[in-house]
Amino acid sequence: MEKNVSIERANELANETLLESKYEIIPLEVAHGRILHSSLTSNVNDPIFDNSSMDGWAVKESDCISLPCKLSIIGTIQAGKESNFVVEKGTACRIMTGAPMPKGANAIVMIEDSIIENNMVVINGPARQNYIRKKGENIVKDEIGLKKGVQLQPSQLAMAALMGYSVIPVTIPPVIGIIGTGDELVKPGDELKPGQIYETNSTALAGLITNIGCVPKKYPFVSDDLSSLREIFDIASSECDVIITSGGVSMGEWDLVRRLMEEEGLIKFWRVLIKPGGPPLFGTWKETPLFGLPGNPVSSQISFMKLVFPWISKSLSFDNQNGPKLFDRVRVKLLSDAKGTPNKITYRRVIIQLNGNELTGIVPLNQGSGNLRSMVECNGLIELKKGANGKSGDFIDALWFR
Ligand code: AMP
Ligand code: MG
Repeated sequence: MEKNVSIERANELANETLLESKYEIIPLEVAHGRILHSSLTSNVNDPIFDNSSMDGWAVKESDCISLPCKLSIIGTIQAGKESNFVVEKGTACRIMTGAPMPKGANAIVMIEDSIIENNMVVINGPARQNYIRKKGENIVKDEIGLKKGVQLQPSQLAMAALMGYSVIPVTIPPVIGIIGTGDELVKPGDELKPGQIYETNSTALAGLITNIGCVPKKYPFVSDDLSSLREIFDIASSECDVIITSGGVSMGEWDLVRRLMEEEGLIKFWRVLIKPGGPPLFGTWKETPLFGLPGNPVSSQISFMKLVFPWISKSLSFDNQNGPKLFDRVRVKLLSDAKGTPNKITYRRVIIQLNGNELTGIVPLNQGSGNLRSMVECNGLIELKKGANGKSGDFIDALWFR
């Protein structure tokens, strides 16, 4: 077991035990929000054939140099229809948006730039080659159009359709068991006895898990007692791909998740140089990867973002740009001071706003790791490197929650 590791080292150690990425093939219709499991190459060129981007006239550009000019009409081409028209010198063919270009024509005149007189068309606007959408200008057959690890949003789904796919391979979302621990915990809404609090972490963690396209499985939270913990770990490890616990990983006498994992499981690291969220551990319980996150509500969320998310992202090959994400890394200008910690990377909750053309950050004073409300009032975290403080006016890295 390694102790007091940097976030990078913690990520490295966790990545030695990655989750297997499995897939299934499903109809496009039900793939919204899923993660593409392997890159897709196009079955067709897009456009499939040269076609008009305007309602207008397919002409020879050389016929329309001096305007107005008069051309004889040879016919009309609709979208979706084949034609044998050939545009010869001095002729024009009426063409609809999306219709294939007729032979002989190399430019389009917009319908607005013409009038019909008898059987002739009078052209009084420019003939443009760039009103032709060229075969393969968007993507050519066999080129990769969608990269593995992207989350399938409307445009990605439409792209799969455009490339000719009716079914696609998507990642089977891992089932992530969530176990809250603590004698003081009570189900929200139930009667509170002295010393008790409502349990909140499993709700936040389930939300974070859902946000990255995985499936949360909440277990009833357990009291600080080795045999209850052992029992629920056994059940969860047989039903889930990963287990996340909250609470019970600090130095206290009742921090039994750590003790049980130490004595009967396997711990790869314990304690990370991050604030808030210092005490997490990672290891395996009967072969099932287990993250033991701290109990403090803010700490459990931040350690999910910095430890669990990168591990899942790596396991399932999430695309950095268009894969599931919890935040975007941005630069903000501080409008207040923020205190860091010697030896630890420090995350402070921040209100990020767009002011003119820069992002600004206000760091509220109450940064207690139990202050869940601050996660609601704020919309991001600033990142203070080891030993660094933030001064009003500084530009600093921040994680802007999605
Ligand atoms: P622990 O890490 O178990 O020492 O817990 C640290 C703090 O977080 C204590 O104040 C706990 O009461 C609180 N806490 C632990 N687990 C939860 C939970 N699931 N929901 C809300 N608060 C919790
Ligand atoms: Mg506890």
